[in-house]
Amino acid sequence: KTDPVVQDLPDFSEYRGVMIVIEQRDGIAKKVSWQLLGRGRKLADKLETELSALVIGDHVENLAKEAFYYGADKVYWCDAPELKDYRTRPYSRVCLHVIEEYKPEIVLIGATYTGRDLAGAIATHLPTGLTADCTELDVEPDPSRLLLASRPAFSEKMVATILCKQYKPQMATARAGVFEALPKDTSRTGELIKISNPMTESEIATRVLDFIQDEKRINLEDAEIIVSGGKGLGGPEGFKLLQQLADELGGVVGASRAAVDAGWIDHDHQVGQTGFTVRPKLYFAIGISGAVQHIVGMQNSDVIVAINRDPNAPIFKLANYGIVGDLFHIVPAIIEAVRMK
Ligand code: FAD
Repeated sequence: KTDPVVQDLPDFSEYRGVMIVIEQRDGIAKKVSWQLLGRGRKLADKLETELSALVIGDHVENLAKEAFYYGADKVYWCDAPELKDYRTRPYSRVCLHVIEEYKPEIVLIGATYTGRDLAGAIATHLPTGLTADCTELDVEPDPSRLLLASRPAFSEKMVATILCKQYKPQMATARAGVFEALPKDTSRTGELIKISNPMTESEIATRVLDFIQDEKRINLEDAEIIVSGGKGLGGPEGFKLLQQLADELGGVVGASRAAVDAGWIDHDHQVGQTGFTVRPKLYFAIGISGAVQHIVGMQNSDVIVAINRDPNAPIFKLANYGIVGDLFHIVPAIIEAVRMK
């Protein structure tokens, strides 16, 4: 109340509610969407307002219902054949239409490749700002109702909390893995609002001809099991061993920045402050010391197993299970044990 800018806030009383834009491919939501609904629920409760989800696609009615299971009170659902695949203009037009019609005070989108594109396209058409790539989201309750959107700044050396005081909606994209989804509750339901597609196919200048899966591209953010390696692997060969373990467990390979910087593995695999933030069920940290910049990217994993020959390695403070020893003896033994099962 002592902040003069907050005292001078315009009257935004017609804007109410927190809205999450759900990202999907072939009717399956990205995990980050459910994680944002989980955080959105907390924000909406604190503001004593409703939580809505916006689902866009073709034949996505089931997905729209699923959004209730993960915490939404209301779901806006726009279903049309021309919305089957993501395209910037038609998707952003649907979002703009819903924002202008229903006036949410906060709009949140996953900071994925698609989400970043969509959020930017929406924000440039609205008289508002966008805080991108957030790692924390909170709100101040009445009277300011401000979104406190925090993200790394100054080459990741500090965390800046950014406020959008003069405009609504307040918009942010947030990284996958930093928030927790609510447990799926199939008994939950709510208000389903059908939105007509504001654009026809003839108005859309682009066409999606095909999606070509990049064989090498991995999806760390949605992985349930991650086998990560660090400088202790000693070279690119070590990652072949980790790939074997990941294959046996049905997981994917991650890495520390030291391993990435050494050129042993691609940056797509990097976990941490300047890599991906992950939240798998099982995370192996193998030959990784446990620097804070690595830990911020994996500390929310359900179960962490650390393998390191240094018993004083900081990673053991965080690990649920710690194995002290040479990874080149331990990892083959685990692979063998998994194969015997
Ligand atoms: P090291 O710290 O060198 O640890 C190697 C470990 O392997 C040691 O603990 C050693 O005991 C163990 N070891 C060696 N040989 C064996 C063996 N045979 N068997 C078992 N254990 C063995 N780091 C990230 O990971 N992700 C990031 O996103 C990231 N972002 C950063 C951003 C900034 C701005 C800065 C300044 C740094 C960032 N870092 C990041 C780097 C981070 O500070 C550490 O340097 C890095 O995480 C260390 O990687 P490491 O654990 O693989 O290597």
